[in-house]
Amino acid sequence: MSENKVILVTGGTGLVGKAIQQVVEAEKRPDEKWIFLSSKDGDLCDYNETKQIFEKHHPTHVIHLAAMVGGLFHNMSHNLDFLRKNMHMNDNILHISFETGVVKVVSCLSTCIFPDKTDYPINETMVHNGPPHPSNFGYSYAKRLIDIQNKAYHQQHGCMFTSVIPCNVFGPHDNYNLESSHVIPGLIRKLHDIMKTGGETFTVMGTGKPLRQFIYSLDLAKLFLWVLREYQETEPIILSVDEKSEVSIKELAEEIGKAYGFQGKIEFDTTKADGQYKKTASNAKLRKFLPDFEFTPFSVAIKESVDWYKANHEIARN
Ligand code: NAP
Ligand code: GDP
Repeated sequence: MSENKVILVTGGTGLVGKAIQQVVEAEKRPDEKWIFLSSKDGDLCDYNETKQIFEKHHPTHVIHLAAMVGGLFHNMSHNLDFLRKNMHMNDNILHISFETGVVKVVSCLSTCIFPDKTDYPINETMVHNGPPHPSNFGYSYAKRLIDIQNKAYHQQHGCMFTSVIPCNVFGPHDNYNLESSHVIPGLIRKLHDIMKTGGETFTVMGTGKPLRQFIYSLDLAKLFLWVLREYQETEPIILSVDEKSEVSIKELAEEIGKAYGFQGKIEFDTTKADGQYKKTASNAKLRKFLPDFEFTPFSVAIKESVDWYKANHEIARN
């Protein structure tokens, strides 16, 4: 059969992009041609470079993952960069998709862009209900605008541009740079170095009390494919583990300790920021479509992520 869908994945070399690539390769479909982009293919903040990529590949579908992404501490020190870079990339991708007649675009928001002061659990209708947490307002407003643009392209031109809202993601191919990483790759990197030197104290930033829902990148990849192929709404959909799977940063640190066989002491540096206390999101909308989807158990996914880093730390983004 001929390939009649050409699917362009921006940010194809990142944590989520690599997971989608792995899932796609495991269950190849003859009518789909996939292209995974890195920043080396062009700077998506630049309109002309982005247009050239579209003229080269002629995508019919786009999964838009590329973004300036970082953990709490990177966001706190670079709000302006997160705002501008992400606004430029998102606007280029959506507008060029419109100009070139792309059939469907799935972009990526995040549960950390929801209002700071809100009722729980958070759902898809609450994205614009109040200011985001001050630690990441740049990233949040840039991401919220994707939803606004999706609605505007639909209203004015009938485009099928939609978005997904993942909770915190982790897995192989993450960013392990201690200055910019999210908490899971940050703690994996830290403990990896401690285990190498035989250190006995594992210091975790903040109080350890904040709560997070973490989704394994390979589970998220499967859900992304379902959204691309089946989900037909402009409105966003939360892609998260169940509310009961929420864990504290302390429980997370213990789980990573277990995966490494760490016998020492876990300490909390309470001089460091905690960020948002929680952002508990409801996956009820997802569950209505996919009631039986099974998420990888957290301890299994953490162990696989630690094992990946042990085997690949030399080539990982450190
Ligand atoms: P990531 O690992 O940091 O990867 C980012 C990707 O974007 C890389 O492929 C990178 O290319 C590309 N990129 C960055 N700037 C670019 C530019 N100017 N031009 C072209 N490409 C550029 O990010 P991720 O964690 O996979 O995140 C993917 C998406 O999920 C993002 O939209 C993010 O906001 C969202 N998300 C992430 C999380 C999370 O916990 N990680 C949670 C919720 C939502 P290079 O590899 O070439 O640099
Ligand atoms: P967030 O969910 O958007 O806040 O992003 P993070 O992945 O950066 O998670 C931040 C939470 O983990 C905060 O409560 C931090 O205090 C805590 N944390 C503990 N150690 C680290 C670390 O090494 N890096 C990061 N990014 N956060 C850490």
